[in-house]
Amino acid sequence: MQRTYNFNAGPSALPLEVLEKAQKEFINYNETGMSVMELSHRSNEFEGILLNAQQNLRELLDIPENYEILFLQGGASLQFSMIPMNFLAADQTAGYVLTGSWSEKALKEAKKMGKTAVIATTDENKYRSIPKQNEIILPKDTLSYLHITSNNTIFGTQWHQYPELDGIDLIADMSSDILSKKIDVSKFSMIYAGAQKNLGPSGVTLVILKKELLDRIPDQLPTMLDYRTHVKSNSLYNTPPTFGIYMLSLVLEWVKTQGGLEGIEQKNHEKAALIYNQMDAYPDFYRPHAEKESRSLMNITFTLPSEELTQEFLSQAKEAGFVGLNGHRSIGGCRASAYNAVPLEACQALAHFMETFRKRFL
Ligand code: PMP
Repeated sequence: MQRTYNFNAGPSALPLEVLEKAQKEFINYNETGMSVMELSHRSNEFEGILLNAQQNLRELLDIPENYEILFLQGGASLQFSMIPMNFLAADQTAGYVLTGSWSEKALKEAKKMGKTAVIATTDENKYRSIPKQNEIILPKDTLSYLHITSNNTIFGTQWHQYPELDGIDLIADMSSDILSKKIDVSKFSMIYAGAQKNLGPSGVTLVILKKELLDRIPDQLPTMLDYRTHVKSNSLYNTPPTFGIYMLSLVLEWVKTQGGLEGIEQKNHEKAALIYNQMDAYPDFYRPHAEKESRSLMNITFTLPSEELTQEFLSQAKEAGFVGLNGHRSIGGCRASAYNAVPLEACQALAHFMETFRKRFL
């Protein structure tokens, strides 16, 4: 069967092996005589799936014991609100580093909850870069936390070195690069990610939360918006997205077969290099949006010398079987999202297509 070259930004490609395993188990999961979707979320089988997912996450990301692992709903977007509701104290300020549209959206929600400050921003250069450490100047005493977006899905930039904070809680939206490389979880007080890029299907949001933070949560929050509710019930306060969590657990098993995060990271470098090499060889033709040192390995953004040529490129790429290469509707241009599950062959094929297309003009 021919699988399409799927460069969608999210929901995005899932590993074929995962889809095949899910297909095999679809009607009769583990001899239960029913599909995972038909299992009770209180059943031993589903609890097994949930625990397995948590254990594999802990193992892959080396998550310390003093962190909770939660599976929530509402997308990464609901976290934009829950974070300030839970952690922004009335007499304090929440700090935000703006590196793109998603960090702007996170800030917008925090502003509704309390005092905020933009600690650094790269909006003046159209979000082509990530701020350098010396550009992040912290008013140490008053910050409740500092929020960053680790990978900017729309602009195609990524933090390659996280800010050193010296005692301030760092919270990161890792929706578009979680599990793409090894990270030191202990540097963060909270990490969150919508699942639909590197983790599984949409509908599940992963939250990794340092236990200490739970003591700061005010009473009187709506039950579902209080992290303590989900910690106390191990993400089973209400009916969770059971099928999504099952798919996520299969993706984690798959990551382990790829040499864990080291293997995945190496492959991601290789894949992105194929496409960036085309851009670097002819930067006046394939014009990168991101500055070199801030480039994302996940979302590769560029334009061609004119809008007509960009459209021509996109339309021919579509005809050649490439899906999802249009840039985000807010900025246009081209974007290739090469998440974990996008195979090397898809990136090789795209690099080849870029070369052939360029040779017609240069
Ligand atoms: N943050 C980032 C970095 C994203 O890329 C996205 C969605 N693509 C979101 C947040 C919003 O996620 P959701 O749709 O799960 O609310």
